[in-house]
Amino acid sequence: MTRILEPNYTNSFCMKKFLFSSAMLISTFIQAQDIDVLRYRHNLTISDENDTLFGRTTIFFRKLSKRDSIELDLHKISLNGKGMQILSVRSSDEEMPRIRFKQEKEKCFLFPFFNDFPKDTAWLMIEYKGVPEDGLIISKNKFGDRTFFADNWPNRAHKWLPCVDRPDDKASFEFVVTAPSHYSVISNGIKTEEKEVGSGMKLTHWKEDIPSPSKVMVIGAAKFATKIYNDSPKDIPVSAWVYPQDSTKGFYDFAVAPEILKFFSDYIAPFPYKKLANVQSTTIFGGMENASCIFYAENLVTGDRSSEATVAHEVAHQWFGDMASEKSFAHLWLSEGFATYLTNYYWEEKYGKKAASERWKKDREEVIAFATASQKAVVDSTKDLMSLLNANSYQKGAWVLRMFRNEVGDSVFQKIIQTYYNQYKGGNADTRDFEAVAEKVSGKELTWFFDQWLFRLGIPDLQITSKVQNNELTLFVKQRGKPYQLTLDVDLILAGGEVVRKQFEVKTVNNIFKIPVKGGKASFTLDPDVKLLYHLKKQ
Ligand SMILES: [Zn+2]
Repeated sequence: MTRILEPNYTNSFCMKKFLFSSAMLISTFIQAQDIDVLRYRHNLTISDENDTLFGRTTIFFRKLSKRDSIELDLHKISLNGKGMQILSVRSSDEEMPRIRFKQEKEKCFLFPFFNDFPKDTAWLMIEYKGVPEDGLIISKNKFGDRTFFADNWPNRAHKWLPCVDRPDDKASFEFVVTAPSHYSVISNGIKTEEKEVGSGMKLTHWKEDIPSPSKVMVIGAAKFATKIYNDSPKDIPVSAWVYPQDSTKGFYDFAVAPEILKFFSDYIAPFPYKKLANVQSTTIFGGMENASCIFYAENLVTGDRSSEATVAHEVAHQWFGDMASEKSFAHLWLSEGFATYLTNYYWEEKYGKKAASERWKKDREEVIAFATASQKAVVDSTKDLMSLLNANSYQKGAWVLRMFRNEVGDSVFQKIIQTYYNQYKGGNADTRDFEAVAEKVSGKELTWFFDQWLFRLGIPDLQITSKVQNNELTLFVKQRGKPYQLTLDVDLILAGGEVVRKQFEVKTVNNIFKIPVKGGKASFTLDPDVKLLYHLKKQ
């Protein structure tokens, strides 16, 4: 996912960057749900004549509330003529097959639904049509060809689909798309059918059985050149879907995906989906981790693999974000921080510590700049969801995991990541859920760690001075504000060039550390391995 970026915000691998200027103010209200959606079946028809989408969505659900109506998310036609108009609603209740409906802005209310409405086998069928104002981007790609791409993050699925548009109502789903025959249609899951249906139209049916949040349920329709990579893991075809004019470049760029998928499969858990398509697309984000069907900005296809970190980021999301999803967007770092961390980890394993350190340093600068400009904690319940696509969710979240790894050690860290994933795959978690797993696996009390890094705004602000006297180096480490609990590495460089690593626990406002030095001369390097997130106050 991504964010509305500040005008001068530049982050080369922040995935959800706005590429178009259409600013959207998106808000969400956490409220009790009327239903728990089990499965969606979206039958959609798109055409070249106009941008009108015809839909028939069947929602299989369990009723949760005692209200006599059901509230769903769907964007009503607004003054500009764009939006979705409901034509009819039917239900599985034989005594009440026709359901009345009322649309209000972003919601539709269906009624009557009585308390004794069938609990497990209920379905609703909603017919609707309209020109999507957002959510399904119907436009032309950079080659002037017409394209259709869904772009749902964070809660824009309801701009074109009736749904419960929140990350904690996961459901399995299928798309049955009828489109002009010259388009290829890509979606999540596996393709179960593709056939000509006459009048120059083709039906394509994709099905995903793994429950997913609405943010990652998508279709794409365009002219594509496709390739399945020979080094795909067994039974998991990894493919590229790129614009035919970009096929050589795109096939080369996305050829890194099988290796990345295998790397994360080894580190975390087996890849959960049945395929992984890497799709060149025309949307508003730089990259979007749609489950098993990643959409990348069209300009990321360059032929020089400069998109490798983006590919790693989006592939990492298949585990964190798609399978183990945040309960609400306040805990977005569980998606973005994890994907950013895992990208740097992949980078370190592939290109070495030095190359990874450069990424960590750059990320730390982003965090410092954001902490200086903003007064926000990582866990942030703002209603302006696009504003969460910031350095807190991405880089600080990643840095927290880096420091957490140092806190618990490599093997325990990996076990925590694996346990958390296995416990929450197919479901949702929040920060305290992750903390609980971390404490259980490590046997350590860690609330202080999560509190200081994720629930507290800002970062440590240190002032460090030193003196060498009587064969002793004294370091004065001063923290501004309420003190953090930190581990500071220092490389002591002695007169003869010998380097000695020292480690200090910084816990109070004023900390004094004394180190004996031979020969009465020494210099030092703070945090030589780029392991601590802090801001060093200039003298
Ligand atoms: Zn991301």
